[in-house]
Amino acid sequence: MAIFAVEFDGRGVTQTALMRAASEIICSAADKEGFPSLGYERYDDAPDRVGVPIKGFSIISRTVPSSYERDLEDVAIDVEKLSPPTPDYSNYQVCYDELAPEAMLYEPRAVDAVLVLDDTLVKGEEPWAYIGVQPIHEKLKDGGAIIVNSKRDPEYLLEFIHPTTKRYKLAVIDADSMDKIIILPLIGAMLRVAPGIVSYRAVIATVKERYKAEGVKKAQVIKDAYNKVRWIEVPPAKQPIQIKRKMRLFEEFPKWHEMPEGIVVYAPPVNGSNPHFKTDTFRTYRPITDPNKCNKDGLCWLYCPDSARSPDPETLFAVNLEYCKGCGVCAEVCPTKAIKMVNELDFRGEKIW
Ligand code: SF4
Repeated sequence: MAIFAVEFDGRGVTQTALMRAASEIICSAADKEGFPSLGYERYDDAPDRVGVPIKGFSIISRTVPSSYERDLEDVAIDVEKLSPPTPDYSNYQVCYDELAPEAMLYEPRAVDAVLVLDDTLVKGEEPWAYIGVQPIHEKLKDGGAIIVNSKRDPEYLLEFIHPTTKRYKLAVIDADSMDKIIILPLIGAMLRVAPGIVSYRAVIATVKERYKAEGVKKAQVIKDAYNKVRWIEVPPAKQPIQIKRKMRLFEEFPKWHEMPEGIVVYAPPVNGSNPHFKTDTFRTYRPITDPNKCNKDGLCWLYCPDSARSPDPETLFAVNLEYCKGCGVCAEVCPTKAIKMVNELDFRGEKIW
C-alpha cells in the first residue's frame, strides 16, 4: 500500500476552478482503478486576491501495480478506442483506512508531482495567511517531478528555483498553446514524467466522460502532452539556499496576554505599507517606468492599491517590490503610457525570493 499525492500551484481567482478540475480528474481516475482518494484546495483568501498564490492537492491511496508498463502500451492506442480500466476493489478498505488520517492534515506530508499553472510561481509560493515563502519543491519527494506550464526551457526555469538537496525532474509543457483548459496538458505531461500515480487509461476514460461531446478531443490533448513534454533531471545541490522570508513559527506570534487591550489591529503608517502583508509573490508582471515618458504626475502612486510606490517624484515613484503585486493599475492609469508590465521571469540574475 502506498500514498501518492499531486500538488497544484496556481493563482487565485483566475485559476481556482482549473485547479479544482485537475483534482477532480485525478481523483476520478483513481476511482476508476478502484482506489480511494481525496482532493482539496487550500485557498487562502485575501481582501484583494487576484494573483494570490494558491495550492490544491489530490491524494490517492493505492497499491502499486505495474501501471507504467501497461500505460506504455496504452499510449499507442487511439484515444477513441481506448477502453476504461476494470476497477479492482479488492484492496479498497485497506487503502481507505490508510487514506483517512491524511484527511486530517492541512497539507499532505509529501507529494510525488507538482503541477505549476503559472511559470512565475517557480520562484516560490507564499499563500496568503501562510507567512513565508515556500520553495516550489517544498513538499516534493526525492525523485519526484515538477511540471510547469511554460514556453521557456527547463534550464531557464531552473535559474529561478531554490537549490535543494533533493533530486527531481523539471518538465515543461506549453499548455497555453494546447488547450484553454490548461490543466489537461499538465496532467498528460505528468503521466509521462511521474508514472504510477494514476494510470493513463483511467485518465483518458475520465476526460472522455467529463467533457462529453468534446471528450475525445480533450483526451487527445492528454495524449499529445504525454508525447511532447520536455524535461531535465536536476541533480541534488550541495547546499540549499537561505529562503528570504521564512514561515513565522507559531511560537513567534504574540500570545493572547501580549495583545493590546481590545485586540487592536494597527493600520499601516501613512505613505507606508503593512509589514505583515507582503504581496510580491502575487506578481506575474512587474511595472517598469520609462524615464523619458514619465511626466511625474503621481497618478501611479495615488492609485496603487498596495501603497507599493514612493511618493517621491524624483525616484519616478519608485516601486517597493515586496509590496507590488503586479496588478497593473499604475500602468493603466498612466496618461503617457510610461509604465510597462514585464514578465517576472524576464529578470534574470536576481536573488530568489
Ligand atoms: S502594479 Fe503598480 S499599482 Fe499594482 S501594486 Fe504594483 S506598483 Fe502598485
